[in-house]
Amino acid sequence: MHEKIGIPNLAIDEPLIFELGNSGRHSVDFEKTVLSPGSGDIPASALRSDFDGFPEVSQVELVRHFIRLSQYNYSVDTGFYPLGSCTMKYNPRVNEDMAGLAGFASAHPEQPATFCQGALELMHRLQRCLAEITGMDRVTLQPAAGAHGELTGMMMIRAFFRDRGETRSKVLIPDTAHGTNPASVAMCGFSAVPVSSGPKGYLETGDVLELMDEDTAAIMITNPNTLGIFERNIADIADAVHDKGGFVYCDGANLNALMGIVRFGDIGCDLMHMNLHKTFSTPHGGGGPGAGPLAVKEVLAPYLPVPLISRTEDTYNLDYDLPKSIGKVRSFYGNFLICVRAYAYILALGGSGLRRVSENAVLNANYLRKKLEEDYHLPVKTETLHECVFTDRKQHGYGVSTLDIAKRLIDYGYHPPTIYFPLVVSGALMVEPTETESLQTLDRFVDAMHAIAREAREKPDLLKNAPGLSKITRVDEVAAARKPVLRWIKQEAVNGE
Ligand SMILES: *Cc1c(COP(=O)(O)O)cnc(C)c1O
Repeated sequence: MHEKIGIPNLAIDEPLIFELGNSGRHSVDFEKTVLSPGSGDIPASALRSDFDGFPEVSQVELVRHFIRLSQYNYSVDTGFYPLGSCTMKYNPRVNEDMAGLAGFASAHPEQPATFCQGALELMHRLQRCLAEITGMDRVTLQPAAGAHGELTGMMMIRAFFRDRGETRSKVLIPDTAHGTNPASVAMCGFSAVPVSSGPKGYLETGDVLELMDEDTAAIMITNPNTLGIFERNIADIADAVHDKGGFVYCDGANLNALMGIVRFGDIGCDLMHMNLHKTFSTPHGGGGPGAGPLAVKEVLAPYLPVPLISRTEDTYNLDYDLPKSIGKVRSFYGNFLICVRAYAYILALGGSGLRRVSENAVLNANYLRKKLEEDYHLPVKTETLHECVFTDRKQHGYGVSTLDIAKRLIDYGYHPPTIYFPLVVSGALMVEPTETESLQTLDRFVDAMHAIAREAREKPDLLKNAPGLSKITRVDEVAAARKPVLRWIKQEAVNGE
């Protein structure tokens, strides 16, 4: 079975382009250059003299070098990417095509509203779709990511209380929360008060009641939470929070589990962000642009960032007239082309299609959970939605940890799942398959996980040194973070020659 495993993408040994080619090779033949260095067309001061070591490669060498480099990584387009909490789903190409349409891609953000009616109409329509999906009244597309949506929401809550002459200092945050939640809260000057999620993995109303008071501005709940579990007491918790005049913020990063099934505005949430780059199919993970639109109930509408995109009959406007607005949170109108992708995705699927996305995401996660629960310890038995969390407890006796399991998965050709998160689970290994994976892909992944569980029992050293088949094997992650090598050093220099 070992002959079959391995990862071509991560095993490429590609030299630097400086090490390729030969003197005199070039990739393009110019019949006649318009400007030639010897002719005096270019002033001497603008000419580089130190061209030593400049790569001289043929066209095929150039193309192969960059194509190979482009494969020198792992991506959703090359394989299964079960990273929990991230919704690494396949992104249909039609969304890219729509975002590439010249009218969208080349639109200048300083154009007056009269010249960009199409773009404004698209944003207005997307806002209405997101309001419908979340059960909220109003939406801003400005925030550039989920964390930015959280910050925007917290700023609006702060503005709401200031406006009423109230000061509140606390925000409740469950212990399963993503780290961005307490960070957003702290950036707005609130202190984050942790709420324990209890042995069943979800919040108990009593625990919230005990902490909720009139100095608490809000509770921030991720639903389903980062254990993949639905917060089933959300409506009662919302009542308890509202009783003391607080807001219920929903971190909607896990919306992929519940589209068309639960509308958070209907069950007591007052505002929530969505991660378009997770749920609504924008490629992400490389630090590229995302979008974290924020949907709110009417009571918070006066504090929305400007400009609002409004509509009067058949005209779309950029409306800056909102005296209580928190102002702008992002240049121009947010990451517009991410919004185009999301709108294309929503239109392609329609309401029933979105619901099917969530149903299949939940089905896939539960399939993996069932198939793996014998080999891997499940810390929480409560039923899960779109992702499930295992631990390394059954492998501990062999000296094998979650890190070793994750690293060994690289040898089997998979991107490792999320590990050691959520923090409340010791040795967590979190898998989110998403709806875009086929039964065959899931079965192959299950086979790999079973094989690794067997290896843990029979040859644990193999796992402790994994990955063994990739070009880069086990790295010292602490040294890599503390003493990064950021510059290419000629090998001879390293060898002291
Ligand atoms: C991803 C995520 C965030 C942060 O979103 P970004 O778009 O990465 O800023 C917040 N909360 C949860 C639960 C998440 O999964």
